[in-house]
Amino acid sequence: MRGSPLAGDACVAPTSSIIITMSTLRITEIFYSLQGETSFVGLPTIFIRLTGCPLRCQYCDTEYAFKGGSLKSFEDIFTELDKINCKRVTVTGGEPLAQRACFELLTELCDKEYAVSLETSGAIDISKVDERVCTVMDLKTPASEESDKNKLENLAFIKKSDQIKFVICDRKDYEWSKEMISTHKLNDKCEILFSASHEELAPKDLAQWILDDNLKVRFQLQLHKVLWDDAKGR
Ligand code: SF4
Repeated sequence: MRGSPLAGDACVAPTSSIIITMSTLRITEIFYSLQGETSFVGLPTIFIRLTGCPLRCQYCDTEYAFKGGSLKSFEDIFTELDKINCKRVTVTGGEPLAQRACFELLTELCDKEYAVSLETSGAIDISKVDERVCTVMDLKTPASEESDKNKLENLAFIKKSDQIKFVICDRKDYEWSKEMISTHKLNDKCEILFSASHEELAPKDLAQWILDDNLKVRFQLQLHKVLWDDAKGR
């Protein structure tokens, strides 16, 4: 990926024998907080939230990232990161992979020795994601109203160190998720995360179902919602 800028979001300008590459991304926010989900929950982390998402999950809590944002060069992004004394970064959205230069950013972050995780909807090809990145990929349940966007071919590119996340809205979603785990042997692939959709399913109900069925999944509460009531930039 490095040295091979992607069309549409990179500008290559030859000046005599020098090639200048200026990759840019539309960014909603960069902030420092505690990781609220995944197996990295509770760890201080820098979040880079990219603007835009082609999906419209009915429970989306980041609609403010659908539009707007500001264009930033990689240089701008790394200048902001350098101000924060933290080597753990989560690239999120919106849907970060909807901007093609995101793939290049992930590689640059790894090259600079950040521990990098990526939060992606599962609707975009992950095959070109740098293998040093921990990909946290959603499988959208029926109640999200976007399950037809699941790109199941992505499952072939999931590594042991990645994580697959289900946001569960009701019992039907739970049964569907169990079926997906069984059909696609997801427990053999990586860690599986189950979250209760905020204000749609009581977390204790989901917790009890998991215990009753002895599922090999990680139940998670969204720490940022418990701590900060889902405030923007936390
Ligand atoms: S994929 Fe994520 S950002 Fe996009 S609509 Fe769904 S929940 Fe919101």
